Amino acid sequence: MAGIRGKDTRPEMILRRGLHARGFRFRLHVRRLPGTPDLVFPGRRAVIFVHGCFWHGHDCHMFRLPATRREFWRAKIEGNAARDVAAEDALVADGWRVLTLWECALKGRERLPVEAVLDRAAGWLVNGPARETIAGGANGGF
Ligand SMILES: [Zn+2]
Repeated sequence: MAGIRGKDTRPEMILRRGLHARGFRFRLHVRRLPGTPDLVFPGRRAVIFVHGCFWHGHDCHMFRLPATRREFWRAKIEGNAARDVAAEDALVADGWRVLTLWECALKGRERLPVEAVLDRAAGWLVNGPARETIAGGANGGF
């Protein structure tokens, strides 16, 4: 599609716009933190990763290993997932709270209502546990 789009529908952009509209302020892609979190809320000691289900190997309907070069892709994606776990562990060990928002929460046939995702992310920012996940599907990552 070459035309001008009214708004960016990538999950990260939906999240950024929605949280900003709710009064949250954050830094983007902070490289000095493990895993380069997508959104960083220094005052709340909280970070959010927005993960693509394919690249980060989510166990959901949006993940399917390509038909060709399967071992290459399996190794690559398993490497990404292992780095994700290491980054999250390092952040939590350093006192950060970590929310992972999977792409399928906002895209695909099992996506959740945008407002519901924003409500959960905002609630987590205010008073959430050290580790939290939001994903698509009936259980929404719980
Ligand atoms: Zn997913």
